Formats: sequence, C-alpha cells, structure tokens
Amino acid sequence: MIRVTVWNENVQDQMGEKEFEFTKHWLANEEARRFVLERTRELREIHPEGIHGTLKRLVEEDEELVVRHVATLDMDECGLTREVLDDTDVLLWWAHVAHEQVPDEIAFRVRDYVWRGMGIIFLHSAHMCKPMQLLLGTSGTLRWREGDFCRVWTSAPAHPIARGIPEYFELETEEMYGEHFDIPTPDDQVFMSWYRGGEVFRSGCTWTRGCGRIFYFQPGHETNRSYYNEYVRRIIRNAVHWAAGTAAKREQIDCIHSVEPIEKR
Ligand code: ZN
Repeated sequence: MIRVTVWNENVQDQMGEKEFEFTKHWLANEEARRFVLERTRELREIHPEGIHGTLKRLVEEDEELVVRHVATLDMDECGLTREVLDDTDVLLWWAHVAHEQVPDEIAFRVRDYVWRGMGIIFLHSAHMCKPMQLLLGTSGTLRWREGDFCRVWTSAPAHPIARGIPEYFELETEEMYGEHFDIPTPDDQVFMSWYRGGEVFRSGCTWTRGCGRIFYFQPGHETNRSYYNEYVRRIIRNAVHWAAGTAAKREQIDCIHSVEPIEKR
C-alpha cells in the first residue's frame, strides 16, 4: 500500500464559519465579505467535505492507495508532525490564500522529507507555497484569469503519470494559468494546457530533488469541478504511484564519511 497524506490549507473551505486572524481584513469590508461568503458557499457545494475530502475520495478509488492522514493549517504543526511525515510516502498539497501562514519550520521540514525520498504533488494554487518555492528555488509566479475553457494536452504520452490519459481532454471551466510560469525547466513536461483566451501553460511538470519526486498539476480551482473529471482524477492517482516509486530513501540529511580508497595496485 502507498501511504498518502492530503494537506489542504482549509481556509476558503471554512470562511464565514471560522475566524482566521489573517482573513479579518477581507471580512471587514462589506463588498469583499459578500464575495468571500459566496465563494465559500460555491466551494462547499462542490466539496461538501472540504477540498481535502474530495482529494481523499479520489485517491482512495485506487485500492493500492490509502490516505493515512488529512492535515490542515489549523492543526498543531499544520498536521505535519514528524510522526505523520514518517508515515507518508506521498504528500498532496492544496493551498491558495494562506501560503504565508505556514511556519517556515514546517516548510523546511517538508522540504527535508522530500530530499529524503518522500514524494510530493503540488496542486493548482499551491504553485507559490513555501515548500514548492524551497524545493524548486523559483517564485512560482504565473498569469491568471478565472473561468476559461481549458484543453489539457498530453505532451509525454509514455510517462507513467499519463497512463490511460488520451491525447487531450477538455475542462469546460477552469481557472486560466498562463506563461510565464516561473519554475525551473521540468524533468518531464507531461501535460500542457491551452485556453480559449489564447494562453498556454505548462500544467503538468515533474522534477526530482534529492531522493524525492515532485509533480505539479494545474487543474483544481476551488469553485470549478475539475476534481470530478475522470482524467484529472486518474492523473492524480497515477502521480501518487509515480511519486512513491523511488526506492532511494535516506534516514537523515547528512554527509557520510566515504569508504577507504582502493590501494594502488
Ligand atoms: Zn484557483
């Protein structure tokens, strides 16, 4: 079994029901408040158990995958204690409005676990979260516009993450993310997206850092239904298999004294 932990910042999922210190300024303005509460209502309609609940269900459609932990920002240590990470082969990360609220210590911890061999999948607006910036060394900035038609092209059909995915598939409504996407050149460009507005985007990218495998995947805006698209679901499950597939694991990040040199013959 591949052990998965789903991390969702779980802020927009609860806005209006729960007070967050850092969201108070949005809710203080009447117009902004109406917008935010409407957004929460739409999100809850699509993700009645929160975005983490939707992700957990789609992962567990595969009998070889088990979600061992669901972790959120409001939990102690963001729910990402060493015990949880020791029990995780692949971490899914969904986030949007609260990247800065994740303590540096937790972001560094996640980065270290990836270096040691844990797989990680960054979803949609996680493109600027601290662990992704730390692992890739770039800002993750991009161009965006809400509510566009999206065609996702499979640009590496032989890649394990593209298994069972057609040449292309379409999402009626997804947030447009466009170039330039500030990332290092991916190891494999598995998917590329085109939007009706004319923009293109590197929407499915892989990297390795240390002993760990990393996948970024664009679809998944909080008020769109992309996580109910059969291909999006399959891609995420394929990515979990791929990201867990490294046998290289390290106990700790440390230099190791080398073996004795071979004597001259
Ligand atoms: Zn979005």
